[in-house]
Formats: sequence, structure tokens, C-alpha cells
Amino acid sequence: MKKTIKDYDLKNKKVIIRVDFNVPIKDGIILDDSRIVKSIKTIKYAKENGAKVILMSHLGRVKDENDLKNTLKPVAIRLEEILKTNVLFIDTTRGEKLEQAVNNMKPGDIILMENTRFEDLNGKLESSNDDSLGKYWASLGDIFINDAFGTSHRAHASNVGIASNLPNGIGFLIEEELKYIENVLNNPKRPFNVILGGAKVSDKIGVIETLVKKADYILIGGAMAYTFLKSRDINVGASIVDNDSVEYCKDLLNKYSDKIILPIDSVNGETLDSKKSRTCFINEIKNNEIGLDIGYNTIKLFKSYLSDSKTILWNGPVGYFENETFAKGTCLLCEVLKSIDAIKIVGGGDTGSAVKNLGYEDSVTFISTGGGATLELLEGKKMDGIDVINEQGN
Ligand code: AMP
Repeated sequence: MKKTIKDYDLKNKKVIIRVDFNVPIKDGIILDDSRIVKSIKTIKYAKENGAKVILMSHLGRVKDENDLKNTLKPVAIRLEEILKTNVLFIDTTRGEKLEQAVNNMKPGDIILMENTRFEDLNGKLESSNDDSLGKYWASLGDIFINDAFGTSHRAHASNVGIASNLPNGIGFLIEEELKYIENVLNNPKRPFNVILGGAKVSDKIGVIETLVKKADYILIGGAMAYTFLKSRDINVGASIVDNDSVEYCKDLLNKYSDKIILPIDSVNGETLDSKKSRTCFINEIKNNEIGLDIGYNTIKLFKSYLSDSKTILWNGPVGYFENETFAKGTCLLCEVLKSIDAIKIVGGGDTGSAVKNLGYEDSVTFISTGGGATLELLEGKKMDGIDVINEQGN
């Protein structure tokens, strides 16, 4: 068990919390604040326990001066609204202004430092986990708490760098992510069934490898399904196929033919933004058609596998849900999940957005905040930002 924020006496301590405020922002407006909302529990706990709270986060990539538009200022404003308390935004990532602000803090005060990746302009110091940057940021605090799950699969100065130089722990958000995902991997209540979708098979090979051994069934939808179908020599028309993965899919289907369930019908369009669709059985897709969703028969088939589940893990939308015409499969699958009494975990990124946008957030048990991080944890890969945190008792 990792040390957590609860293992420390925070009173009067300068507590650096690495949060994930990497939210979508357009023209200064935050389009989805759920990552901020999910960070609140840890921030409030630190404030209420008398900490001087120093928040750090990245926002987008920062490659050149144009990316200086990725300021965390709008996040500070939103955070103040949610917390109903002052948040002092410091528009720099180092120097006297930052240091003075930290030195002037009183217990319960909250500072949000500017985007950690602004340091990438000085030669990728943040993203390459530059030793002196990690030490410098650590020098601002007494305790470090990592609560940014979305970047915890990377070694950056703002997670691994600081953690290597301070007493450390994880926050409530990472604790919850680990609880759900590790439980799925190590001790799932059975039947345990997985739904995989999305676009590219190659991105998910590691996850498939791990889950095919642990799950009872793997149901495959999304563009990914057409790569699997092609490997069975089925004509998939103009559907998106990950050609480099066809052989891999063929081998996997040979090895796990009774575990991997593929769609039996397909909703097709002639273009991605098509308003018209045609549904057909899988072997009837025409050459000019792109398979963009699963049909009712597939939903029924998937339901028959899912209905007795005790644990369901879903990663990847089963259709091109950004276009309403092809969002029905994903939407109906949400309805199916709603009707099932099981632990229902949704892998982050697009699947999380789909479930939220379609209004089914309350119908699932847990939506992960990670995209790549969720996939890597599911694969059983090393998670640098979490591995660096001390175990309890140390
Ligand atoms: P991924 O990042 O691999 O999980 O892919 C997610 C993306 O795949 C989303 O933008 C979906 O709309 C898209 N997607 C899902 N199914 C299809 C499909 N049949 N054809 C094209 N794109 C799809």
C-alpha cells in the first residue's frame, strides 16, 4: 500500500499537490471541468487540515512561444468558484514572485502555479524530469502529494522529480483509480467481461493481451472490430482498418476464439459526417461503405454476454459517436450497462467523454480520469509517478 495524504500531519506544512488540471479550454472557456471537480476532495482535505496548499499541473503541450496561451489562469478562476474560496494564481513557474508568495502563505491558503510545461520551453526541463527543476520545485514545499493520475505513467519533474526530494504520498483521486483498476486486474468479481472499442488496435494490444487472460469474455466494437473482421477475410468495405494489426488479430482469434466476441451487424455511412446510414449483417458491407457503429443485433448479442456480469470494464466507444447518426450503439450500450447490477468501470479518454456526454455518468460505478495512464495501468506497465511514492511503513 502506498502512503497517502492521510499518513501525514499537514498542519502548517507547505503541501505541494500535483493535480491534473489538463482540461479542454477554448477561447478561455473551460469546456469540461470534471478533472478539476475530481481534484477537489484532496485539495479540501489539505486545506481543512491546515496545510498551505501549493497546486501544480500541466495544461496541454508547450512546444513554442505560441503555446504560452495554455495558461492555467482560467482554471484558477473555476477552482475559486468551486471551492468558494480564494486561489492565488502565480503566473510563473520559478523565481522570486513564486517564492515570496509561498513564503507569505498561511495555513489554509491555496496557490496555483502556472503550467508546469512552460518549463519545457527551456529545453524540455519538465517533461524530461530535469533533476535541478525537480529539486527546485521540491524546495518550495515540505510534503509532496501526487494526485494527477493522467500523467502518472510518465516521469516528469513535477511528479517523479519532486517526489524524489520530499516525503510523499498519493491523493484521494489516485487512490480511487488504483482501487478500481487494480481490483479489476487482481481480483475481479466474476463473471468479469470487457468491452473494447475505439479506433486503433495497435494502441490496445498490450491491454488486450492482459485482459484476454483475465476476463471471461471480450466484446469488441468500434473501428477496431473491422480489423478483427478483416483478419477473418470478411469484406469490411471502406471501414478503418489497422493494417499492421491484421495478422495479430488473426492469431488472437485463433487462440481465443471462444472468448472474443465480434459484432454481427454494422451501421454504415459513406463518409464520417454522413447523416444517412445503412445497417446490414457483417458479411453484407458494400465496398464504398464505412462501418461506423454496431447495430441492434450486436447490442442484443453483447447484452446476452453482459447481463450476468459482476464486473464490467469498458474502454473505447463502439461507434463513431461524435456523429449523432453513429452514436446509437454507444448510447444503447450505456442503457444496457444501466440495467446491469455490477461494478462498471469506464476507461478514461473518449469513452469517459462519451458516457458523460450521453448522460450516463450516474449509471456506471467509476470513470477513470486517465487516457494513456489508464491503458498503461491496465496493461500492468510501470507507472513512474506512482512507483516513486513511498510504501506505507517507509
Ligand atoms: P481510441 O482513441 O482508439 O479509443 O478511439 C476513439 C475514437 O474512435 C473515437 O473518436 C471514436 O469516435 C472512434 N471510433 C469508434 N468507432 C469507430 C468506427 N467504427 N469508425 C471510425 N471511428 C470510430
